[in-house]
Amino acid sequence: MSDTSKDFKSVGLSKPMLENLKSLGYFKMTPIQEKGLPFILSNRDFIGQANTGSGKTAAFALGILAKLDLTNHMPQALVLVPTRELAEQVAGEIRRLGRFTSNIKVLTISGGVEEHHKIKSLRQGAHIVVGTPGRITKLLKTGVLITCDLKVLVLDEADRLLEMGTVAEINHIASFTPTDRQTMLFSATFPNGIKTLSASLQEDAAQVTIDSQHQTGTIKQLFFKVENEKNDALLRLLAHYCPQSCIIFCNSRETCNKVAGLLRTKKIDSLQIHSDLEQQERTLILIKFDNKSCRIMVATDLASRGLDVKNVSMVINYDLPSDHELYVHRIGRTGRAGQEGIALSLYTHQERAILRTIGEYLKIDCATMDLNSLKKFKDIVMRPFMSTIYISGGRKDNIRPGDILGALTKDAGLKPEEVGKIHILEVNSYAAISHDRLEHAIGHLNAGKIKGKKFRVGKA
Ligand code: ADP
Ligand code: MG
Repeated sequence: MSDTSKDFKSVGLSKPMLENLKSLGYFKMTPIQEKGLPFILSNRDFIGQANTGSGKTAAFALGILAKLDLTNHMPQALVLVPTRELAEQVAGEIRRLGRFTSNIKVLTISGGVEEHHKIKSLRQGAHIVVGTPGRITKLLKTGVLITCDLKVLVLDEADRLLEMGTVAEINHIASFTPTDRQTMLFSATFPNGIKTLSASLQEDAAQVTIDSQHQTGTIKQLFFKVENEKNDALLRLLAHYCPQSCIIFCNSRETCNKVAGLLRTKKIDSLQIHSDLEQQERTLILIKFDNKSCRIMVATDLASRGLDVKNVSMVINYDLPSDHELYVHRIGRTGRAGQEGIALSLYTHQERAILRTIGEYLKIDCATMDLNSLKKFKDIVMRPFMSTIYISGGRKDNIRPGDILGALTKDAGLKPEEVGKIHILEVNSYAAISHDRLEHAIGHLNAGKIKGKKFRVGKA
């Protein structure tokens, strides 16, 4: 973010909220927050268009949190998102932003094995509900989710919601909610469907668009021409840059398989993420990538949208995507929230036209780099920094990250630096552990207790 961007004080948030933002390292507003929050906080219907990674979640989350009446345990805000992972991410961000007060309840509703716990939780009351349209519709129809006190309806990743469903489906959900609600639409692109959606759901909406040029400023973009064979070029890029963490994007599932196979022959660990995986497998893959148990994720475009995988130091486009907006989505995984990132793209003679479109769209000069300027590769050593363990208890057992950290450092005797990220889900949890301490940690946790209870622990 530039030095001229404003801090959150200027939009009039409460003092505890401001302090919490500081503790999260949110010192300045991102452009969509700076331009959008004045409308959002004044209850206007709102359309926010900005690239992934530009802080849209906090823009609507702060709006919701500012309006919440905590003494009322009926849902006051409903956030619709296209996928289950995104529901978890958005709920996580709202919880972090809501830490300034202790009893905000944020619930995700997106199907899967944990659903019956969720329904029980919902009956006990929740202030904010985040979920996927299918599941939300079901709970509205059965009367489990009651929305008569709803003040805010948010459609996050509205473009993707529409790709997956219809305007009618969303309208149906909205028909359960009070008409005097505030409705906000967030999207990275702006297809026609969004206009239709806005016309049917919103009144006098304020619209803020942040152009993508603005957003790709902190990403260093390099383009490499290859003759036919991309594999050799890919290995050269990895050997030369040796990224801490990297997403390799391919246009098809087959290419993903091919690339993962290539890496395997070079003894480089990678994870693959694509739409054919079960939701639970996808969640675990994202956790392993996020907690540094794997440095390379090979992905189709499924993973380029919405997912807030943080601190990706590099994105490689093994194939150029078929359109320029997808390109922006992909490279938006790196250089998040003002950090510098690197995006490398391989392209063949046949892909030149796409390259030209990208250059025109971003108003950049897609200067071609020479692969021969890079180191020759011998062995590429990209060992992950951590391994992941699972623990058979989660949020439903009231486990918090501190409980697991405590069990690992106090009881099992690990040094704090030997423990990485801890993810708490509804019924289980994951923690990253230094490789050489893995067996030790698993042994101790299985023998001991967490929060006075026994749990099963193993390598994930
Ligand atoms: P989007 O929904 O626009 O794709 P996110 O809301 O997922 O983007 O935000 C991307 C990342 O930026 C998140 O990791 C979030 O925690 C971080 N972030 C958001 N706002 C700020 C801010 N003002 N300062 C620093 N980091 C921020
Ligand atoms: Mg988002």
